[in-house]
Formats: sequence, structure tokens, C-alpha cells
Amino acid sequence: MNGIIAFLTQYNHARRLNRFSNRKELEAYQKKAVEKFLKTVLPRSTFYCSYLEKHSIQEWRQFPIIDKSIMMENFDGLNTAGIKKEEAFKVALQAEKTRDFTPKIKGITIGLSSGTSGNRGLFLVSKAEQMAWAGNILGKVLPTSLFFGPKQKIAFFLRANSNLYTTLNGFKIQFHFFDLFSGLEKNVAELDEFQPTILVGPPSMLRLLARAQKEGKLSIHPIKIVSVAEVLDPMDQAYMEDVFQQRIHQIYQCTEGFLGFTCSHGTLHLNEDILIIEKDYLDESLGKFMPILTDFQRTTQPIIRYRLNDILTEKKDPCPCGSPYLALEYIEGRCDDLFYLKAKKEDKMVPVFPDFIRRAIITASENIEEYKVVQESNAKIHVYLLCEGNKNKIENQVRDNLYAILDQLECVLPELTFSYGIHLEKGAKMRRIQRK
Ligand SMILES: [Zn+2]
Repeated sequence: MNGIIAFLTQYNHARRLNRFSNRKELEAYQKKAVEKFLKTVLPRSTFYCSYLEKHSIQEWRQFPIIDKSIMMENFDGLNTAGIKKEEAFKVALQAEKTRDFTPKIKGITIGLSSGTSGNRGLFLVSKAEQMAWAGNILGKVLPTSLFFGPKQKIAFFLRANSNLYTTLNGFKIQFHFFDLFSGLEKNVAELDEFQPTILVGPPSMLRLLARAQKEGKLSIHPIKIVSVAEVLDPMDQAYMEDVFQQRIHQIYQCTEGFLGFTCSHGTLHLNEDILIIEKDYLDESLGKFMPILTDFQRTTQPIIRYRLNDILTEKKDPCPCGSPYLALEYIEGRCDDLFYLKAKKEDKMVPVFPDFIRRAIITASENIEEYKVVQESNAKIHVYLLCEGNKNKIENQVRDNLYAILDQLECVLPELTFSYGIHLEKGAKMRRIQRK
């Protein structure tokens, strides 16, 4: 019952996208909401109890900034459900093996975030939190009302089925899950049969579907297409928008929460109705920062001043939609994928933003259909290409472009190597810019 109320409350709030007419109103609401949240949650988290002795609730911005590794180190003391890390890992890993993705302890769902084996995160959410999350996401993303609109058929490409969504079948929505691990042909045939009105999936999969549509193997006519779980590359976006003749929307979402979504103008806005975002600037003049999240809805595993390892770029001009929520130019990817190259003049490393690499490749030649760029060492970058036309010419154009930007950044120019064809590992996240 609690779950349904949480769902409906969030759904209704999210539906009213214009409920804050300006920044000042939004910030006043956030202040009230975060203080109310901290007052109920902090005393239940032993990790934060010690900070409460030193600071009042109003001084919460003095609390430490945490990240995934600090969260994991202090897992037992941080969560308010009394769940031990060891036990949670055991349950989560067992579930991974059996591909049962709904492991629970004491009614709390355990989520395992991706990462290298030593750096995997454990996330805890209660049923009510999940329902609130689903309400918020559907309220913002559904093009029509859950109660009064036409029935929407949502095709959802996921790593794993989630029984969360199936509990929502029965409203004016019908979910159909497609397993990213299934073969493409099977998925295409099933999708063609289902005829979704809304299509949701990671861009690497959406791109394959767009190609199938272009080749006549698929014939669907969704009214909304939403990219999730991976960085949406402008090149993929343009290809899909051309095939499906509509805007590709985005949901910015990870195990740490539902963070943002695109408005009707295609601008990505952060969910400041449920989050406070502080900015840790990587380069303020370029507007590039890592977000520090305070989520005033997560009570089981509080997310308070939690730094996410993502690079975001602020939008310079206000969005024409008028939303007071922070607008982004784009999400560039994980900080782990920042390239670092030796500086020409000094003894230091120069960070190169994924966005610079991306633009250098995309603008090199119209014949490039897809790419992947991997920094293999301090002195070596490998470029994978899928292209038509004269390979030598394209390689030279890519080299010229990349060297021009790296030279401008005063880096020692790395060795550039090329190969053709891009291998997609089934079920793995696609990263077009990657540092090894
Ligand atoms: Zn907007």
C-alpha cells in the first residue's frame, strides 16, 4: 500500500513539470525537502550520527563528500536497514549467477552496479523507494496520462527483467521486456510483432534496431524513443533520428538514482525536484563538472553529497522550455574515460575530454558510420572505424583532426593506430571513448 501511495505522489508531482516557475521557488522547495529528509534519516544511519554531533541539519553541506568507494567502505554504518555488506554481496552475486535479478534481504532489493571486480557497488532500495522512482520516471517520460490517455505499449530493452514494471501493468501501459542477451533476429521479430508505441533501450541496441528498420527487417512506428544506460553519441543520435524521423529522448539513470531526462526541446534536465546537485568542476570555463548528488528520497541507503564519476557539461543558454531544472549540453561519459596524455612543456599529464575526441572523429569525414577510440597507453591511441570509401584518406583526416586538437592542448602527440570493424560484446555497455 505504501508503495502505491509513493508511486502516485511522485507520478503526480512529476507530471506537473511547471510546478516551479523559477529557480528561487525550486531552491526554497529543495531546502525544505532536504532538511525534512535529513531529520528523519540521519539519526538512523550510524555513519552520519557522528557528524550530527558536530553539525546541525542546516549545515549538511559541511558533511563529507562521499563516492562509491567510501560508500562501500562504510556500507554497514551508512544504510538504515541494518544490512551487512558481506551478506548483501553474497545474495547479489548468487542472483547474478542464476540471472534472478530480484534478490532481497528483509524486503529490501539488493542491486549490484557494474565496475571492475574490486570496484563493484551495492545498492539498496525498498519497495516504496522503487515505486516512488517508477512514479517519477513515468510521470516525466510518458507522453500521455497513465489514467486517461490511450494505452501505451512500452518495449523495454534491459540487461535483466524487473518485476517492478510488471506490477504497473494494468494502468494504461503495457510493458514488454526484451533481453539484451537474446539474439538480434529474435528481438527484431518479437518487437515487430509487439508494435510498441514507446521504445526504450541503450543506444547501442537502438542503433541496431534502427538499422533493421532501415533495411526493412523491422517496421515499427513508436511515438517516443528513449535512450538509456549508455552515453548517447551524437553520431548515433543523428542516425536514429534520421531513420525513425523523430527526436531521440534520453533518461539519465544509474544505480545511484534517476538523475535526468530530456524535455520537449531535447534538452537534458537534471531532476532537481528530487535531488540537490552540487558541482565539482573539472574545468569551469568549459562548464564541465562531476555532479555531487543529495537525493532526498533515498532513505534505505542515503545518498548524501555523493560524487558521481560522470563528466557533465552545463548548457550555456537557458532552455526554451523554461524549466528551472539545471540544463545540460551533454553527458560525456565516465571520468575513467578521460584521456590523459603527456604535456609537451611540463612534466604533467593533460586531461583530454571525451567530447574533444568525439568531435575530432565525427567531423573528420562524412563516410564514418561508427567509431570507437581507445587510449591504450600514455603514448598510444587506437581508432576503430566502420566506414565506406578510401580508408587511407579517412585515416589521414582523422589523424589530422586528432593531432590538431591534441597539439592545441599542448600534448605530446601519441601514436595513432587504426583498425576496421567494431565488435560489440553482448550485454556489455557500449563506450565509444574508452581509456584502458
Ligand atoms: Zn528544456
